[in-house]
Amino acid sequence: RAKAEGPGRSTLFDTSMHDQVRERIELEVALRQALAEEQLHVVYQPIVRLETGMPVGAEALVRWEHPERGSIPPMLFIPIAEDSGLISQIGAFVRNEALRQLGVWRSQGVVSESFYLSVNVSPRQLSDPELPLVVSGELFRYGVPAHCVALEMTESVMVDGSSVTARVLHELRQLGTKLLVDDFGTGFSALGYLRRFPVTGVKIDRSFVTGLGRNEQDDEIVRAVVAMSHALGLSVIAEGVETPLQREALYQVGVVNGQGWLWGKAVPAAEFAERWHLAAALPEVPLPVATVTT
Ligand code: C2E
Ligand code: MG
Ligand code: MG
Ligand code: MG
Repeated sequence: RAKAEGPGRSTLFDTSMHDQVRERIELEVALRQALAEEQLHVVYQPIVRLETGMPVGAEALVRWEHPERGSIPPMLFIPIAEDSGLISQIGAFVRNEALRQLGVWRSQGVVSESFYLSVNVSPRQLSDPELPLVVSGELFRYGVPAHCVALEMTESVMVDGSSVTARVLHELRQLGTKLLVDDFGTGFSALGYLRRFPVTGVKIDRSFVTGLGRNEQDDEIVRAVVAMSHALGLSVIAEGVETPLQREALYQVGVVNGQGWLWGKAVPAAEFAERWHLAAALPEVPLPVATVTT
């Protein structure tokens, strides 16, 4: 049925329970096939220094190109992958592909020595006691230093995580990877766990970045997150930066790094290498020196 209606078929109108369940099952079956048939690929979005616009790293994001339905957004299939357990295979694919790519870029001089790739890891992956060993094997295989890899997890990992997860995080940190809290501010955002778990940085969720420079409350929230993060020795990346006004406001409150459409969307590896090559990326007009506020 889905096939007959083609890629334009909207799931929005499948309002009955029955249709929703059917849609989920269809997607799960299709996702299993996607893994086997190499319909998944990885795209890269730059993470830049706000001050200069130069890349410090990139986030690896999964894309699914279905032969009939076209591109299916992660928001639609990641939750299904998590429920069904397929996320472990998808996550492993994305991580391995990203680390392989980083090895290539490093050897070709496309990226700097300190350039890092950031990979999303789901709670299920972090509950696998083998994960640190697997990551360490991949680092060795692709000649990538551990500090050139960041793993992004949501706050829920630290809130619901088991003792196995806690150990996995400590082992990853011992290995030397960066550990970032993704979508920071949308979950529990308790100070306690930031101290208890070996995280190295936070990514401020896009929802707090949107109103920056226009909404005083957003400015204050971000200012508070920065103060807290710096007090704890954590790095800060702002997500979803779309406008020069947001960049300016972030810089003024002391955020160092940003990611968003202002600099570029996530693109395939070849396009990334072309656009963001170490030798080709030119610094943008510097921002005025931040005024110290008390
Ligand atoms: P995320 O990890 O928070 O990734 C950032 C999302 O924001 C990406 O959406 C990115 O394309 C989008 N984005 C970046 N800059 C901007 C901007 O300036 N404006 C707006 N409006 N959006 C921006 P994407 O690629 O659709 O991924 C959505 C989510 O799916 C990700 O959120 C992440 O939670 C999940 N995801 C993606 N790839 C993976 C993966 O390989 N593994 C896992 N476990 N989750 C993944
Ligand atoms: Mg992320
Ligand atoms: Mg994020
Ligand atoms: Mg986000």
